[in-house]
Amino acid sequence: MAKVVSFSNQKGGVGKTTSCVNISAQIANKGKKVLMIDMDPQGNATSGLGISKSKIKSTIYDVIIGRSDIKDTIVKSNFKNLWVVPATIDLAGAELELYDLEDDKLRFTEIALDSIKDDFDYIFIDCPPSLGMLTVKALTVSDGVVIPMQCEFYSLEGMSQLMNTIKKIRSLYNPSLQIVGILLTMYNGRLTLTGQVVAELKKYYQDKLFKVPISRTVRISEAPGYGEPICYHDPYGKGSLEYAAVAKELMLRI
Ligand code: ADP
Ligand code: MG
Repeated sequence: MAKVVSFSNQKGGVGKTTSCVNISAQIANKGKKVLMIDMDPQGNATSGLGISKSKIKSTIYDVIIGRSDIKDTIVKSNFKNLWVVPATIDLAGAELELYDLEDDKLRFTEIALDSIKDDFDYIFIDCPPSLGMLTVKALTVSDGVVIPMQCEFYSLEGMSQLMNTIKKIRSLYNPSLQIVGILLTMYNGRLTLTGQVVAELKKYYQDKLFKVPISRTVRISEAPGYGEPICYHDPYGKGSLEYAAVAKELMLRI
Protein backbone atom coordinates (compact mmCIF):
# COMPACT_ATOMS: atom_id res chain seq x y z
CA MET A 1 0.00 0.00 0.00
CA ALA A 2 1.28 3.46 -0.91
CA LYS A 3 2.94 5.71 1.64
CA VAL A 4 1.58 9.25 1.31
CA VAL A 5 4.03 12.12 1.87
CA SER A 6 3.30 15.86 1.60
CA PHE A 7 5.88 18.54 0.85
CA SER A 8 4.79 21.48 2.93
CA ASN A 9 5.95 24.87 4.17
CA GLN A 10 3.72 27.97 4.27
CA LYS A 11 6.57 30.06 2.86
CA GLY A 12 6.70 30.38 -0.91
CA GLY A 13 9.86 29.87 -2.90
CA VAL A 14 11.58 27.50 -0.47
CA GLY A 15 11.86 24.53 -2.84
CA LYS A 16 8.69 22.54 -2.11
CA THR A 17 7.77 21.99 -5.74
CA THR A 18 11.36 21.42 -6.86
CA SER A 19 11.89 18.82 -4.13
CA CYS A 20 8.53 17.11 -4.67
CA VAL A 21 9.09 16.80 -8.42
CA ASN A 22 12.70 15.64 -8.18
CA ILE A 23 12.23 13.18 -5.35
CA SER A 24 9.13 11.72 -7.05
CA ALA A 25 11.05 11.22 -10.31
CA GLN A 26 14.13 9.84 -8.58
CA ILE A 27 12.20 7.21 -6.62
CA ALA A 28 10.15 6.29 -9.70
CA ASN A 29 13.32 5.96 -11.77
CA LYS A 30 14.65 3.50 -9.21
CA GLY A 31 11.69 1.21 -9.86
CA LYS A 32 8.92 2.25 -7.45
CA LYS A 33 5.51 3.24 -8.75
CA VAL A 34 4.96 6.88 -7.86
CA LEU A 35 1.99 9.24 -8.10
CA MET A 36 2.64 12.94 -7.68
CA ILE A 37 -0.40 15.01 -6.73
CA ASP A 38 -0.23 18.73 -7.45
CA MET A 39 -2.16 20.59 -4.72
CA ASP A 40 -0.96 24.08 -5.65
CA PRO A 41 -3.26 26.21 -7.86
CA GLN A 42 -0.13 27.52 -9.61
CA GLY A 43 0.37 24.06 -11.10
CA ASN A 44 4.17 24.33 -11.10
CA ALA A 45 4.71 20.67 -10.29
CA THR A 46 2.42 19.73 -13.18
CA SER A 47 4.35 21.83 -15.71
CA GLY A 48 7.71 20.92 -14.13
CA LEU A 49 6.99 17.32 -15.10
CA GLY A 50 6.24 18.38 -18.64
CA ILE A 51 2.48 17.78 -18.47
CA SER A 52 0.97 20.12 -21.04
CA LYS A 53 -2.36 21.83 -20.44
CA SER A 54 -3.88 20.03 -23.44
CA LYS A 55 -3.39 16.65 -21.73
CA ILE A 56 -5.39 17.67 -18.67
CA LYS A 57 -9.05 16.70 -18.62
CA SER A 58 -9.74 17.00 -14.93
CA THR A 59 -7.65 17.97 -11.91
CA ILE A 60 -7.25 17.50 -8.19
CA TYR A 61 -9.89 20.21 -7.79
CA ASP A 62 -12.53 17.92 -9.32
CA VAL A 63 -11.49 15.18 -6.89
CA ILE A 64 -11.64 17.43 -3.81
CA ILE A 65 -15.18 18.56 -4.56
CA GLY A 66 -16.30 15.06 -5.55
CA ARG A 67 -16.87 15.77 -9.22
CA SER A 68 -14.35 13.30 -10.68
CA ASP A 69 -13.07 9.86 -9.87
CA ILE A 70 -9.37 10.29 -9.06
CA LYS A 71 -8.56 7.47 -11.49
CA ASP A 72 -9.85 9.64 -14.36
CA THR A 73 -7.58 12.54 -13.41
CA ILE A 74 -4.32 10.56 -13.38
CA VAL A 75 -2.00 11.40 -16.29
CA LYS A 76 1.06 9.32 -17.20
CA SER A 77 4.19 11.47 -17.30
CA ASN A 78 6.94 10.97 -19.87
CA PHE A 79 9.09 9.44 -17.15
CA LYS A 80 9.39 5.87 -15.97
CA ASN A 81 6.92 4.74 -13.26
CA LEU A 82 5.67 8.27 -12.69
CA TRP A 83 2.06 9.44 -12.84
CA VAL A 84 0.55 12.84 -12.02
CA VAL A 85 -2.72 14.22 -10.73
CA PRO A 86 -2.47 17.73 -12.17
CA ALA A 87 -3.60 21.07 -10.83
CA THR A 88 -4.68 24.19 -12.64
CA ILE A 89 -5.73 27.61 -11.42
CA ASP A 90 -9.30 26.42 -10.77
CA LEU A 91 -7.93 24.88 -7.58
CA ALA A 92 -7.68 28.40 -6.13
CA GLY A 93 -11.47 28.28 -5.66
CA ALA A 94 -11.34 25.03 -3.70
CA GLU A 95 -9.87 26.79 -0.69
CA LEU A 96 -13.22 28.59 -0.24
CA GLU A 97 -15.44 25.76 -1.39
CA LEU A 98 -13.92 23.44 1.20
CA TYR A 99 -15.24 25.71 3.94
CA ASP A 100 -18.74 25.34 2.51
CA LEU A 101 -18.75 21.58 1.90
CA GLU A 102 -20.95 19.60 4.26
CA ASP A 103 -19.16 17.27 6.66
CA ASP A 104 -19.84 14.07 4.75
CA LYS A 105 -18.49 15.60 1.55
CA LEU A 106 -15.30 16.83 3.20
CA ARG A 107 -14.07 13.26 2.97
CA PHE A 108 -14.02 13.04 -0.84
CA THR A 109 -10.22 13.37 -0.94
CA GLU A 110 -9.62 10.69 1.71
CA ILE A 111 -11.96 8.27 -0.05
CA ALA A 112 -10.30 8.98 -3.41
CA LEU A 113 -6.82 8.29 -2.07
CA ASP A 114 -7.89 5.10 -0.34
CA SER A 115 -9.20 3.84 -3.68
CA ILE A 116 -5.77 4.06 -5.37
CA LYS A 117 -3.30 3.29 -2.60
CA ASP A 118 -2.89 -0.27 -3.81
CA ASP A 119 -1.78 0.94 -7.24
CA PHE A 120 1.33 2.85 -6.07
CA ASP A 121 4.32 2.55 -3.73
CA TYR A 122 4.50 6.26 -2.99
CA ILE A 123 2.11 9.18 -3.36
CA PHE A 124 3.78 12.59 -3.04
CA ILE A 125 1.74 15.79 -2.61
CA ASP A 126 3.05 19.25 -3.52
CA CYS A 127 1.34 21.72 -1.15
CA PRO A 128 0.61 25.41 -1.77
CA PRO A 129 2.49 28.13 0.16
CA SER A 130 -0.11 28.57 2.90
CA LEU A 131 -1.56 26.76 5.87
CA GLY A 132 -5.10 26.98 4.45
CA MET A 133 -7.63 24.26 3.74
CA LEU A 134 -5.67 22.67 0.88
CA THR A 135 -2.63 22.12 3.08
CA VAL A 136 -4.83 20.89 5.94
CA LYS A 137 -6.43 18.44 3.52
CA ALA A 138 -3.05 17.25 2.25
CA LEU A 139 -1.67 16.71 5.75
CA THR A 140 -4.85 14.97 6.83
CA VAL A 141 -4.42 12.30 4.16
CA SER A 142 -0.64 11.94 4.61
CA ASP A 143 1.45 9.43 6.52
CA GLY A 144 4.28 11.93 6.66
CA VAL A 145 5.45 15.40 5.79
CA VAL A 146 8.74 16.66 4.34
CA ILE A 147 9.53 20.29 5.17
CA PRO A 148 11.79 21.96 2.60
CA MET A 149 13.40 25.14 3.89
CA GLN A 150 16.03 27.70 3.02
CA CYS A 151 18.74 28.71 5.48
CA GLU A 152 17.39 32.16 6.23
CA PHE A 153 16.66 33.94 9.45
CA TYR A 154 12.88 34.00 8.96
CA SER A 155 12.79 30.29 8.16
CA LEU A 156 13.13 29.50 11.85
CA GLU A 157 10.07 31.57 12.77
CA GLY A 158 8.08 29.89 10.02
CA MET A 159 9.14 26.52 11.31
CA SER A 160 7.50 26.92 14.74
CA GLN A 161 4.27 28.04 13.05
CA LEU A 162 4.33 24.97 10.83
CA MET A 163 5.07 22.67 13.78
CA ASN A 164 2.01 24.10 15.56
CA THR A 165 -0.15 23.39 12.53
CA ILE A 166 1.17 19.83 12.42
CA LYS A 167 0.31 19.41 16.11
CA LYS A 168 -3.21 20.69 15.47
CA ILE A 169 -3.71 18.36 12.53
CA ARG A 170 -2.52 15.45 14.63
CA SER A 171 -4.98 16.20 17.39
CA LEU A 172 -7.94 17.00 15.12
CA TYR A 173 -7.66 14.74 12.08
CA ASN A 174 -4.58 12.57 11.75
CA PRO A 175 -2.85 11.33 14.91
CA SER A 176 -0.28 9.29 13.00
CA LEU A 177 1.12 12.15 10.87
CA GLN A 178 4.89 11.81 10.98
CA ILE A 179 7.57 14.43 10.27
CA VAL A 180 9.69 12.58 7.75
CA GLY A 181 12.36 15.25 7.69
CA ILE A 182 13.47 18.83 7.24
CA LEU A 183 15.24 19.35 3.92
CA LEU A 184 17.66 22.24 3.47
CA THR A 185 17.35 23.65 -0.04
CA MET A 186 19.30 26.18 -2.11
CA TYR A 187 22.13 25.52 0.31
CA ASN A 188 25.35 27.51 0.23
CA GLY A 189 27.69 26.31 2.97
CA ARG A 190 30.07 29.23 2.40
CA LEU A 191 27.62 31.76 3.85
CA THR A 192 27.98 32.59 7.54
CA LEU A 193 24.22 32.90 7.90
CA THR A 194 23.78 29.36 6.61
CA GLY A 195 26.05 28.02 9.36
CA GLN A 196 24.14 29.97 12.00
CA VAL A 197 20.72 28.78 10.83
CA VAL A 198 21.90 25.18 10.58
CA ALA A 199 23.32 25.35 14.12
CA GLU A 200 20.01 26.71 15.40
CA LEU A 201 18.01 24.06 13.54
CA LYS A 202 20.19 21.30 14.95
CA LYS A 203 19.44 22.51 18.47
CA TYR A 204 15.74 21.82 18.03
CA TYR A 205 15.38 19.37 15.17
CA GLN A 206 18.69 17.48 15.04
CA ASP A 207 17.20 14.06 14.29
CA LYS A 208 14.80 15.51 11.69
CA LEU A 209 17.33 17.10 9.34
CA PHE A 210 18.10 15.13 6.19
CA LYS A 211 21.81 14.33 6.16
CA VAL A 212 22.42 15.85 2.72
CA PRO A 213 21.30 19.41 1.92
CA ILE A 214 20.38 20.41 -1.64
CA SER A 215 22.85 22.94 -3.05
CA ARG A 216 21.80 25.94 -5.07
CA THR A 217 22.60 25.06 -8.68
CA VAL A 218 21.68 26.51 -12.06
CA ARG A 219 20.87 23.04 -13.42
CA ILE A 220 18.15 22.51 -10.78
CA SER A 221 16.55 25.87 -11.51
CA GLU A 222 16.58 25.46 -15.29
CA ALA A 223 15.24 21.87 -15.38
CA PRO A 224 11.51 22.77 -15.06
CA GLY A 225 11.86 24.93 -18.17
CA TYR A 226 12.60 21.72 -20.05
CA GLY A 227 9.80 19.85 -18.27
CA GLU A 228 12.41 17.49 -16.86
CA PRO A 229 13.30 16.34 -13.36
CA ILE A 230 16.98 16.77 -12.52
CA CYS A 231 17.70 13.02 -12.63
CA TYR A 232 16.97 13.16 -16.38
CA HIS A 233 18.09 16.72 -17.10
CA ASP A 234 21.54 16.40 -15.54
CA PRO A 235 21.83 12.84 -14.21
CA TYR A 236 25.43 13.03 -12.99
CA GLY A 237 25.37 16.61 -11.71
CA LYS A 238 25.57 17.66 -8.09
CA GLY A 239 21.84 18.41 -7.75
CA SER A 240 20.85 15.04 -9.09
CA LEU A 241 23.23 13.18 -6.77
CA GLU A 242 22.01 15.16 -3.77
CA TYR A 243 18.34 14.52 -4.55
CA ALA A 244 19.20 10.83 -5.02
CA ALA A 245 20.74 10.75 -1.54
CA VAL A 246 17.71 12.46 -0.02
CA ALA A 247 15.31 10.11 -1.83
CA LYS A 248 17.20 7.14 -0.43
CA GLU A 249 17.07 8.53 3.11
CA LEU A 250 13.37 9.34 2.74
CA MET A 251 12.59 5.74 1.79
CA LEU A 252 14.41 4.53 4.90
CA ARG A 253 12.50 6.96 7.09
CA ILE A 254 8.97 6.09 5.96
P1 ADP B 1 8.08 26.52 -3.66
O1 ADP B 1 7.37 25.37 -4.30
O2 ADP B 1 8.38 26.29 -2.20
O3 ADP B 1 7.37 27.82 -3.87
P2 ADP B 1 10.03 26.18 -5.76
O4 ADP B 1 10.40 24.75 -5.71
O5 ADP B 1 9.07 26.61 -6.81
O6 ADP B 1 9.53 26.67 -4.34
O7 ADP B 1 11.39 27.00 -5.88
C1 ADP B 1 11.41 28.41 -5.95
C2 ADP B 1 12.42 28.86 -7.00
O8 ADP B 1 13.73 28.45 -6.62
C3 ADP B 1 12.19 28.22 -8.35
O9 ADP B 1 12.47 29.19 -9.34
C4 ADP B 1 13.18 27.08 -8.41
O10 ADP B 1 13.58 26.78 -9.73
C5 ADP B 1 14.32 27.63 -7.60
N1 ADP B 1 15.08 26.57 -6.93
C6 ADP B 1 14.59 25.62 -6.10
N2 ADP B 1 15.58 24.81 -5.65
C7 ADP B 1 16.72 25.27 -6.21
C8 ADP B 1 18.11 24.88 -6.13
N3 ADP B 1 18.50 23.86 -5.38
N4 ADP B 1 19.01 25.59 -6.84
C9 ADP B 1 18.62 26.65 -7.60
N5 ADP B 1 17.36 27.05 -7.70
C10 ADP B 1 16.41 26.39 -7.02
MG1 MG C 1 5.49 25.34 -5.18
